[in-house]
Amino acid sequence: MLLARRQGMHNIEAFLSALGDVPAIADPDIVRRKSRDMTANFSPVMKRDALEKVADLIVRPRDKADVLRIASAAARTRMPLVMRGAGTANFGQGIPLAGGAMVDMTALSKVLWMRDQSVCAEAGARMMAIDEATRPTGWELRMHPSTKKVATIGGFVGGGHAGVGSCSYGILRDRGNLLGLEVVSIEEEPRIVKLRADQVNLVHHAYGTNGIITEVELPLAPAWRWREAVVVFAEFMTAVRFAHRLATSDGLLKKLVSVMGGGILEMMRSIRACGRRGKDGVVLAMIAAPCMEGFAALVKDFGGEITSEADEGLGPYRAPLYEFGWGHTRLHVNRDFPDLVSNVGLYLDPDLVGAIERSHRRFAHLPGMAFEVKRFDGKLSLQGSPFFRYEGEAQLADIMRGMAEDGAHVANNHTFLVKEGGMKSLDDEDAAFKRAMDPHGLMNPGKLRFDDDAAGDDSTGGDLPSSGWRYDDAGSGPDSRDGKSRESAAAAPVA
Ligand SMILES: Cc1cc2nc3c(=O)[nH]c(=O)nc-3n(C[C@H](O)[C@H](O)[C@H](O)COP(=O)(O)OP(=O)(O)OC[C@H]3O[C@@H](n4cnc5c(N)ncnc54)[C@H](O)[C@@H]3O)c2cc1C
Repeated sequence: MLLARRQGMHNIEAFLSALGDVPAIADPDIVRRKSRDMTANFSPVMKRDALEKVADLIVRPRDKADVLRIASAAARTRMPLVMRGAGTANFGQGIPLAGGAMVDMTALSKVLWMRDQSVCAEAGARMMAIDEATRPTGWELRMHPSTKKVATIGGFVGGGHAGVGSCSYGILRDRGNLLGLEVVSIEEEPRIVKLRADQVNLVHHAYGTNGIITEVELPLAPAWRWREAVVVFAEFMTAVRFAHRLATSDGLLKKLVSVMGGGILEMMRSIRACGRRGKDGVVLAMIAAPCMEGFAALVKDFGGEITSEADEGLGPYRAPLYEFGWGHTRLHVNRDFPDLVSNVGLYLDPDLVGAIERSHRRFAHLPGMAFEVKRFDGKLSLQGSPFFRYEGEAQLADIMRGMAEDGAHVANNHTFLVKEGGMKSLDDEDAAFKRAMDPHGLMNPGKLRFDDDAAGDDSTGGDLPSSGWRYDDAGSGPDSRDGKSRESAAAAPVA
């Protein structure tokens, strides 16, 4: 395969000499470790590639001037670049399919400014650090992945999608959740491009294939005193109905609504004590303190029982409650049950309860289901799937098809290809932007099919059935499926 042949054939000496004094690491152990992210832990399909593919070296820019030097050196010596924040991506985003240099952005970690309830930070800033800076002012990030402790804001924008807070504020690509990005092109004379409004979605979830994000500007949300609650119900579907009602109770302010079968909670050893024998429905919730009375009344209406209530981070499970939801559910379950995997299905209103009920019936023989409540493109959705023991790609495909038959939109989280992943739609504007920002095709090669002839050969898991996710309502017009302005971003202002 062309990509595989290219690996190891890069002119490292020329690249290093063009870099000047930008810190670089070639120690094979460190390079191997930093060539991995969480993909191998999450996808049995991509696991082999994720463990075998290794970069040639690591570069660690100290500031924006170093980023520009790296971009120029890469263009001059045709060195592939794979951007890296904390390396927590779990869908193949950060795996160097064609070798090259991993660009560790974690030294660009400054929170640059806060004003007018928004914040601007360098791409390598950890989301935890951003929240620590803004919370004392009464404001916090609208949403963050459950990896907030370590994950960077550049990595979230480049590879993430939604998270804790999305039950109220929607997904990251929803208009208004990402105010601006500063991005560097990979050219002999690199440009600094500022993207605002809808154009930010060209770079969001593009896996670092179309520019180096250097700065991110985000709107903030009120930082409530959040109370964490674990609630159990006799039946799983009662928990789903309760979660739906909670999500649509606009007066009850919430930051997390995770729904899972009691069997899933039982498999997470740090929190299983909050379950109750014979209760098969569980909801993990973060609720604004003044809303707890109303929340308790809602729990009562649905016949639930609150088995744990605590301030954020102070529960008996010894971690913030959100570290048991989102991707962390899998992480905890896999500690004792390493063979269990899951999919990323999107069950959307108006029929999400009915669709989940159909899947719950269909997959009743499997260990259990887990979902996250999120608002998505103006609609309410539950994102998740059954957990199941992985037997092979045919079984995986069957489960994906079953979920789709029940009414879910199923993303393919077992492919390196952005497009086949199904969480981002790509059109001509994306192709033009990619050509303008990365004319030599050096950024994370093998991830964007339309710009790399060899990508098809390397598309591990690319043929699994995925209907993809459609974005209907956020567009600027009836034909604007991806919600982006038609004005070309390739010609965006250059600083
Ligand atoms: C346990 C667990 C839970 C998770 N929960 C969530 C969740 O709730 N929501 C969610 O969306 N994701 C989730 N993820 C996926 C991942 O943690 C998040 O997407 C996270 O934000 C990635 O940040 P990072 O700094 O680790 O990025 P990395 O993994 O380092 O990078 C992610 C992608 O962005 C690119 N990138 C990194 N920095 C830049 C840059 N400066 N410029 C351009 N591209 C860049 C990388 O090349 C890569 O393609 C989870 C993963 C795990 C393992």
